[in-house]
Amino acid sequence: MASPHVVIFPFMSKGHTIPVLHLARLLLHHGAAVTLFTTPANRPFISTALFDTTVSIIDLPFPQNIDGIPPGVESTDKLPDMSQWSRLAIAAKLMKPYFEKALNSLPRISFMITDGFLGWTLESAQKFGIPRFVYYGMSNFSMALSFAVSQSRQLFIDMGSDNKKLFTIPSVPRIKFSRNDFDAVFVDPEYQNTEHSEYVSEQIQATGKSYGIIVNSFYELESVYADYWNREIGPKAWCVGPLCLSAPPPQNKAENGQTRTWIQWLDGKKEEGKPVLYVAFGSQADISREQIKQIKIGLEKSGVNFLWVVRNKQAEDDDGFEHRVGDRGLLVKEWVDQREILEHSSIQGFLSHCGWNSVMESICAHVPILAWPMMADQPLNAKMVVEEIEIGLRLETFDGSGNGFVSWEHLEKMVKELMEGEMGKKVRKKVKEIGGAAAKAVAEGGSSWKALNELINELHAET
Ligand code: UDP
Ligand code: UDP
Repeated sequence: MASPHVVIFPFMSKGHTIPVLHLARLLLHHGAAVTLFTTPANRPFISTALFDTTVSIIDLPFPQNIDGIPPGVESTDKLPDMSQWSRLAIAAKLMKPYFEKALNSLPRISFMITDGFLGWTLESAQKFGIPRFVYYGMSNFSMALSFAVSQSRQLFIDMGSDNKKLFTIPSVPRIKFSRNDFDAVFVDPEYQNTEHSEYVSEQIQATGKSYGIIVNSFYELESVYADYWNREIGPKAWCVGPLCLSAPPPQNKAENGQTRTWIQWLDGKKEEGKPVLYVAFGSQADISREQIKQIKIGLEKSGVNFLWVVRNKQAEDDDGFEHRVGDRGLLVKEWVDQREILEHSSIQGFLSHCGWNSVMESICAHVPILAWPMMADQPLNAKMVVEEIEIGLRLETFDGSGNGFVSWEHLEKMVKELMEGEMGKKVRKKVKEIGGAAAKAVAEGGSSWKALNELINELHAET
């Protein structure tokens, strides 16, 4: 039998693209041939990441002159702010004829894996008789609970304006939720019937009609929710992660052959025997100037060593912060290999927005988390990290609201607790155990390894 041929189409954002590039490598490793679709502006990042593989990359023309989107922007992390997110996602639908033309010219396709936000690819899949798998980039926990709560919408309406009030839902009685655990798009009546919420519900419908879902997680981590999803909701979810474990070893070196400056700095901290807190909020978060100020004060007062990857121009305010913290802190203003940093033995804690990739990468590197969720599935991820798998501590906003302000006093206290306190010790021990289980899941014979083999066999036998 010829090898299976898989078509992959990631969504145009770093958080949705990076794990799928790891998935492409994993499929090659399991004997598949892979064709990956993207857009011209996203191609360089992808071809650099996959330079040493046989993945063929096809870029489709991305619609230009879309109202509100600056010319040349083809990725949500390049948007001036997140309010244009759905505009960009909707524009992507215009790639459909080009996608279908390309599908028509490719050798026989066993199945396709396309992003949950590219629901229109389902119609193309159906047209060509190709099974479609959805890549969501969410945990089973977040998928299952988002679904369960969406079935109980009346609860939110009855609650009025109280975002902190705790409630339970009949299908998951042991978990207490508040409206703050969910992105506003999901629960706030103000967002209903907007372009954004309609786009999202269209995607969910397309998922429901697809063949299956590929989940970047492993069964042992959240078996209750994986089972719940597969039993009550569907389509079938296949846990094949953590996908970051399929990435090649970090490069460590810049193009000029030198060890990157931040790795040199971490090496220095190792020699001094000083643990370092890693601070990063992913590729998209918008953080206000005032909030950045509070982070700076909190870090400064905490006395801990820290490496902060700053994506926000406002952090460049010349307020003497870097001078004041001196060698105790390092601000990095470039794109980094986050995994390389997390895996450095000096890193002993991660102040994170709890993007699902960051959570997986932290688990794999055995680093406990100080959770500061900001949007989307991040509040649910934070809930899972802190309350379910107990690998992290939670930062509270000053007024208890979902995306409110975090004061420097609270930040200082929690940073110290994570890095030096008893609770920090406890979650550090736990994350090592879970990280060990993650490595087992992807190793030959492990649950994720088996799931991917089963999936390939199931589909390949049918084609
Ligand atoms: N890029 C992308 N999507 C876009 C625009 C650019 O993926 O919409 C890629 C681009 O091809 C390059 C990387 O992002 O690989 C950096 O692009 P750029 O220099 O524009 O951004 P910066 O590094 O200043 O954030
Ligand atoms: N990332 C990285 N370098 C950076 C910023 C981000 O490698 O400078 C990676 C990070 O390791 C993760 C992804 O980008 O794989 C971000 O995904 P996540 O789900 O954590 O957050 P999002 O950016 O989607 O909010």
